[in-house]
Amino acid sequence: MTGIIADVIVLCETCGAYFEEQPERCPICEDQRQYVPEAGQRWVPAGELGRKTVVRPEGAFEGVGLEPSFAIGQRALLVPHRGGRLMWDCLPYAGDADLGELTGIAISHPHYYTGMVDWARAYDCTVYLHADDREWITRGDSHIELWEGETLDLGDGLTLIRCGGHFAGGTVLHVGDALLSGDIVQVIPDRGWVGFMYSYPNLIPLPAESVLAIAAKLEPYAYETIYGAWWDRIVRNDGAAIVQRSAERYARAVRGEPI
Ligand SMILES: [Zn+2]
Ligand SMILES: [Zn+2]
Repeated sequence: MTGIIADVIVLCETCGAYFEEQPERCPICEDQRQYVPEAGQRWVPAGELGRKTVVRPEGAFEGVGLEPSFAIGQRALLVPHRGGRLMWDCLPYAGDADLGELTGIAISHPHYYTGMVDWARAYDCTVYLHADDREWITRGDSHIELWEGETLDLGDGLTLIRCGGHFAGGTVLHVGDALLSGDIVQVIPDRGWVGFMYSYPNLIPLPAESVLAIAAKLEPYAYETIYGAWWDRIVRNDGAAIVQRSAERYARAVRGEPI
C-alpha cells in the first residue's frame, strides 16, 4: 500500500482517473463497473504519462486520441458548435495539439472524466457533467458545471440526453443525424445492433427496464449514425431503428425469452 504523496497529481493506470494526491485506492476501479488489476493498483504521475495527442477525421467529425493508448483507450470527438468545437468525452492527457477554440466539454459518464480539468483549464471552457454522477468526480474544478434533469440544450443543434443505464447520469449527445453515445449505447462488432451494460469489463447486464428506458429516451430523436467511444466504432446507417430493436432484443434476452 502506497502512502500519500502531496502535491503530485497522479492518474490511475487502469481507468485514467486524476487525483490531486496519490490516493490509497481508486474509487472508480473499485466500483463493480471497473476492476483493480490482478497485480494491484498502479499510479502514474501526470508529468510522466509520455503520450501524445493525435487528431484525425472520424466520420463526419474529427477525433482526438492518445498514442500510445492509455487506460480505457477511448477517443474524443470534436463537434462544430458556436463557431468553435465542443469536445465530446475526454482523454487522460490535454496534450500538445492546438485544437483551436473549444466551446465546452461534455462527457458521457465518469469513466471518461479523466483529464477533464486539464483540458478545461487549457481551453478555458465549461465541462458539462450530469449531476447524478457527481460522487464520481475525483478532481474538482470551477470549470465543471453540473446539469440536472433529462436534457440540456447546448444550442446550435446540440442536445445532451440523460439516458442512465451504465451510470445514473449516463448521457449521450444528439447532433444533426448523429448520436454520440460513449458507453451508454455501445457500438459492437455487429454494426446492425448495439449493446448496453452495467459493467462492460465484468459483463454485468442491465435490467430490461433500464434498457427499455434508454430506448424510450432516444425514441423522439432522428439519427442515422452512432459514434461509440473508440476509433472506428461507428454505426453508419439506420441508427435510430437499430437502438430501438437492440433494446427490445436485450430485454428479451435478460428476461429469458427467445431473442
Ligand atoms: Zn482507476
Ligand atoms: Zn464506462
